[in-house]
Amino acid sequence: MGTPVRHFTASAADGREYTVRIERDFRYDPYRDFVVCAHCDWSPSLLTTRRIDDMAAEHLASAHGADGGLSQQEDEGFRKARMIMLPIIAVLLIALFVWLGNS
Ligand SMILES: [Zn+2]
Repeated sequence: MGTPVRHFTASAADGREYTVRIERDFRYDPYRDFVVCAHCDWSPSLLTTRRIDDMAAEHLASAHGADGGLSQQEDEGFRKARMIMLPIIAVLLIALFVWLGNS
């Protein structure tokens, strides 16, 4: 499957935490995200106008009884990758402007 880019966690009444991951497959379709539940086979179609966070919250609450303390976090690996990519893009843009200015 894809790379996890973000996840939602919510806690149930008994204190257990449940997670829904958003994954992105950069190799094939970089603009298509998948939503997968870490605890069951739930993986809805995203061909909908509903917001992903609403869908995730609703699934966690209705399927796992986890309706408390919903939080949303960007995945650590994805955040690092973006922090590495941003300076590279900045340097490339500066190089482009310098090159345009000299030609
Ligand atoms: Zn589930």
